[in-house]
Amino acid sequence: MHNFKKLQELLSSPKKIVILPHHKPDADALGSCLALSLYLKKSGHSTYVISPSDYPKFLFWLPGNDEVIVYTNDDNKEKAAEIIHEADLICCLDFSSLSRIEKLGEIVQEVVDKTPILLIDHHRGKDDIAEFELYDIEAAATAQLIYEFIELDNGLDKIDEQIAENIYAGIMTDTGSFKYPSTSSRTLRIAAELKDIGIDTSRIHNLVYDNNTETRLRFLGYALSQKLTFIPEYQAGYFTISKEDRNQFNIQTGDTEGLVNYALSVEGIEVAALFKENDDSDGIRLSLRSIGDFSVADMAARYFNGGGHKNAAGGRIIDGTLEGAVQIFKKALKEMKQEAESEKA
Ligand code: 5GP
Ligand code: MN
Repeated sequence: MHNFKKLQELLSSPKKIVILPHHKPDADALGSCLALSLYLKKSGHSTYVISPSDYPKFLFWLPGNDEVIVYTNDDNKEKAAEIIHEADLICCLDFSSLSRIEKLGEIVQEVVDKTPILLIDHHRGKDDIAEFELYDIEAAATAQLIYEFIELDNGLDKIDEQIAENIYAGIMTDTGSFKYPSTSSRTLRIAAELKDIGIDTSRIHNLVYDNNTETRLRFLGYALSQKLTFIPEYQAGYFTISKEDRNQFNIQTGDTEGLVNYALSVEGIEVAALFKENDDSDGIRLSLRSIGDFSVADMAARYFNGGGHKNAAGGRIIDGTLEGAVQIFKKALKEMKQEAESEKA
């Protein structure tokens, strides 16, 4: 890890530490933050986990969730800014560009000259923002890197069930329950170590995945039958979810999680997208997934103001329609597939 000795010196006395996940944090982002927060508290530090936005209800069980300050809740905005201005260290977990934390990024920008940043992440396309870095795009999850950070810090004996549950939840979700190729033997060994600490892994799977309401299950049926289109010539499929769809099924943050993967489960489909029309200021958000060599991180970066991993990425179109987003997707597929063909030739 880059500059680790200097970081250990900084952490040798109690500090005020801000810990940030990306916008709309998932289990990896939030679990990593809470695990690191619980760990640093055990070493005598004061920690503040500030989320740039709300997040799915199915993450509320994560140990330490009660301490999370959600920036977009009106009464938290001033408090969050104050905490960031007073921090001795700012930890950016599961993202590596300040644009990923929206408005909070502007506040962090105000203090970057005086406050060191610790970045722990596995996404492609890192900006040069951090003095301290544990960055590995091969890592299955940021939560895996949190485990490795604790190991480097000789702190494995401080991992209790609460910390272990957070790390496990992050690794489990980012590997698709240990299914994606990013799952290394190291990932599985860490999961085994966490299990040996005494956590109930089956319970964690249930808490994260078996949480449907009847409406959400009906929405899944509707999306699969009415909202999924395939483009066989590009081995692609995509969902479009409009504002009306969201209202009809009372879709909440997290309710479309995992939907995009259904398109990929069809034989022969290698690229999948989900386009979601959000509130006006938020435009169209999209999730991209692929199997094999096709890099949706590249597609997200080139066409959709986003980024991510080779096989899982996301982005947005600020001013645009669902139809417009689909057109860009088709153009991107055409151009990228042609490029891949000509590289092969
Ligand atoms: P999801 O589709 O689950 O929201 O995101 C898939 C992956 O892409 C996640 O690792 C997520 O952090 C990343 N990602 C999603 N949206 C964006 C974005 O707008 N910019 C970047 N750089 N990464 C994103
Ligand atoms: Mn992650």
